[in-house]
Amino acid sequence: MAGPARPGKLVAAMASEMQAMLNEHEEKKGEGWKEDGHAELYRRLCEEVGELGELLMGATDANIAGQDNEFSCDVVRECTDVANFAMFIADVVLRARSHARKGLDGL
Ligand SMILES: [Mg+2]
Repeated sequence: MAGPARPGKLVAAMASEMQAMLNEHEEKKGEGWKEDGHAELYRRLCEEVGELGELLMGATDANIAGQDNEFSCDVVRECTDVANFAMFIADVVLRARSHARKGLDGL
C-alpha cells in the first residue's frame, strides 16, 4: 500500500529544486543576495509569496485536478522561490550571529 511520501524524500526533492534555481540565478546575478539585509530579503520573500498566491487564487478546476503540467511547474517554481528567500534570511541571521560570536571570542 502506498502511503504518504516520507518527509525526507520531500525535503530532498525540494532541496534539489532550490539548488537548481540557485544555479540558474547564479549564472545571471551571482550571489548578490548575500549583500542584502534581512529587510530586503523579507520584502523579496513577500513578493514571492504574492506570486504564489496569485497562481493559487487563479487556479482552475483543471489546475487543481493536476491536469495542467504548466500550472504545477509554475507552482513548484514559486514555492522554490519562497523557500530560497526564507533560506537566505536564515543565512543572514546565522552569519551575523557567527560574526558576533567571533567578535566576543576576540575579547
Ligand atoms: Mg517567483
